[in-house]
Amino acid sequence: NMGAMENKGLNIFNTSCVLADEEYTTDAAIMRVQSVIAHEYFHNWTGNRITCRDWFQLCLKEGLTVFRDQSFSEDLQSAAVQRIDDVAVLKSHQFPEDAGPLSHPPRPDHFVEINNFYTATVYEKGAEINRMMSTLLGKEKFRQGTDEYFRRHDGQAVTVEDWVAALSAGSGVDLSAFLTWYNQPGTPKLEAKGEYDAAAQTYRLSFKQSLKAHPKYPNLKAVPIPVALALFNAKTGEQYTLQSESLFVNGVKDGVYLFDQDEAAIEFTGVTEQPVVSLLRNFSAPVNLVFDYSDEELAFLIQHETNGFNQWQATQTLLERILLEDHSADTYIQAIQSTLPELVGRDPLLASRLFDVPTEGYLGSRIDQNYAPADIHVKREALLNRLAQELGAFWKDTYLTLDPDLQKEFSLAMGVRALKN
Ligand SMILES: [Zn+2]
Repeated sequence: NMGAMENKGLNIFNTSCVLADEEYTTDAAIMRVQSVIAHEYFHNWTGNRITCRDWFQLCLKEGLTVFRDQSFSEDLQSAAVQRIDDVAVLKSHQFPEDAGPLSHPPRPDHFVEINNFYTATVYEKGAEINRMMSTLLGKEKFRQGTDEYFRRHDGQAVTVEDWVAALSAGSGVDLSAFLTWYNQPGTPKLEAKGEYDAAAQTYRLSFKQSLKAHPKYPNLKAVPIPVALALFNAKTGEQYTLQSESLFVNGVKDGVYLFDQDEAAIEFTGVTEQPVVSLLRNFSAPVNLVFDYSDEELAFLIQHETNGFNQWQATQTLLERILLEDHSADTYIQAIQSTLPELVGRDPLLASRLFDVPTEGYLGSRIDQNYAPADIHVKREALLNRLAQELGAFWKDTYLTLDPDLQKEFSLAMGVRALKN
């Protein structure tokens, strides 16, 4: 019933995950086939040659192999859109699982029937833990860590602890605190606040993390959260080079702050103008972020953020406010109008996603009280009409100039088809 199975020497596939033809298969189905084949192929090392000591370690092979197939797919198409889709799966399947009665750690400590543990938490959250360590280390050090893992354990049956120990030894960075992510359930809430001091030219970000109490896990601990972040000059739109000793690597534009306490703060110096901060770039940790952006700051990020995922996230936050809190749609429309012409040529697939107007079902899930489906329907239709009126001429021109058959690369042809549709 699953997509496929990595049996050594004879992978077994569901036909929908292995048969494709450019003439009649949709782009989404071709991407799915490529990712499943990659996944089973990658299992030759992370699953077969190095296997799990016992069933409790299922996320050792699945979390790592899902992270590898996600990274592979990011190389094949718009990396931002691949991340958008992977985060959508995480938020629509794993977050609800972790918020409900079936909540469990990525590495469970007991089970009745292991078949019930092929869950979103074991697969998707397991992949996120590996992504967090990779985000912190950077590509080169992460590779040194995986090389050490294969060197030490080829032909063995091992545990999550062995993996984290090899990654630490190979990269030279102690990652043992990440074991907490494997051993406890729940989606952390990450609250952040920013404060700019114009006289001192400093910007201070304070963070707080919390987890809902869990009846079976009374001793929940703070987890290490790599917060990928950037500061932009609000006047010029340029990205600051970050200056702070608290950064994992100081003096870079794309920074990572490892937040691993209940509460902590980081201060940046040399911030000459009021900054706009972009937090949790590329969704660098599986948490619920709370940060009080103004509509103008979100519009700024739509126009200036260089990380495609956070650019998209800014559209989603703004659209949700328009639909649920009656904010004006003008800010969103103006930001989109100034962003699209350049983006259409560079990343047509991402351009197509900046019009992801949240579904009625999703909007309903964001309302605690007085949920009136008919009202949401009316508001959403009105917004779609408004977009059609404001952007109709631009859309028509763009539609007529786009031709997927003229694209040299499959990924660009795919983006052009998506944007046309
Ligand atoms: Zn697998």
